[in-house]
Amino acid sequence: MQEKLAETENITKTVLKGLTLRELRDFFEAAGEKRFRGEQIFEWIYGHMVDDFDSMDNIPKYLRKKLKEFCEIITLKFHSVEESPSTGTRKFIFETKDNYKIESVIIPEAKRTTLCISTQVGCPLDCKFCATGLMGYRRNLTAGEIFDQFLLSSKLYTVKPITNIVYMGMGEPLLNFQNTLKSLEIFAEEKTRGISLKKITVSTAGIPPKIIELANSKIKPKLAFSLHSLFDETRSKLMPINKKYSIAENLEAIRYYVNQTNTRITFEYVMFKDLNDREDDFYSLVRLCKSFPCKLNIIPFNSISHMLPTGISAELKPSPKLRLDEFVKRLREKDITVTVRYTQGSDIAAACGQLAYKFEKN
Ligand code: SAH
Repeated sequence: MQEKLAETENITKTVLKGLTLRELRDFFEAAGEKRFRGEQIFEWIYGHMVDDFDSMDNIPKYLRKKLKEFCEIITLKFHSVEESPSTGTRKFIFETKDNYKIESVIIPEAKRTTLCISTQVGCPLDCKFCATGLMGYRRNLTAGEIFDQFLLSSKLYTVKPITNIVYMGMGEPLLNFQNTLKSLEIFAEEKTRGISLKKITVSTAGIPPKIIELANSKIKPKLAFSLHSLFDETRSKLMPINKKYSIAENLEAIRYYVNQTNTRITFEYVMFKDLNDREDDFYSLVRLCKSFPCKLNIIPFNSISHMLPTGISAELKPSPKLRLDEFVKRLREKDITVTVRYTQGSDIAAACGQLAYKFEKN
């Protein structure tokens, strides 16, 4: 395996975590080894969560030695955890090799345990209501760093197994398309820990060409679209990306996704006082939901005051609970499937849109 490299000092090792089954097979073949070694390593890393080559007892000794020399597995390190005493929600902070902190959140519920994972360090989209948006953007996470959040969280959270994954942490998954896709491909393999793509939701602020690309790929998770308003003017104020990709363009791409995948879409709708909780918002939502196989997820706005927001971000207020409840009740009367995502973890800043970490390195 790249014998020549042995002569060089400070070699950069190949990081195996994040490689898909196909890539691992190719990797071993290119190194003059049998393709099935790729399968074995895949199973060790993702199925058994083993990070140490010496424990891989079906790999011959000479190969383990080479692997130790030229490859590495670990991508993230555990940094710290905060637990919400009221809900049991846990926010894990992990550290990348280049010392960035990223966050993953465990949300325990009666019938399932959901892990919310990040796809970028920060986020470039600058949504005005989102703490991650306010912190800016540093870089994409690798597929290994995306998947490692699941492996590490599964090891650290021993109360119950993780049953669902949502790509709703820091970052915009569809702007880190290749790595997001690769991480999904790893989840989809039978040899990993059995979370099927049916239990995985990718949430997007709306990048239509990428929604179409995802629909055309073999990998088809559930899709959630952060809608928040059906009026371009309002949506553009809240989410600058809407100036580039309008609501109509997004809905067209989503319709394509729904048709290609035979799934229903989730529309996420954070409710802001006097901004998107009025009568015309209500009727436009009803019209939309009648025209799509969909579920509407109403989200109370979680405070981002810990980010000391300015401008429009400082003006946003949550809809009063009474108005939100009334809104939901009337939507249900129209036979629309509505769930309300009651805040989980706001006491530890782990609720939707509250994830942010200062970029200062150690
Ligand atoms: N970039 C992706 C995923 C990250 S955000 C996206 O935009 O969908 C995950 C969800 O949390 C989105 O629906 C987002 O709109 C919502 N969210 C962001 N900030 C929030 C806040 N302060 N309160 C409630 N929900 C928020």
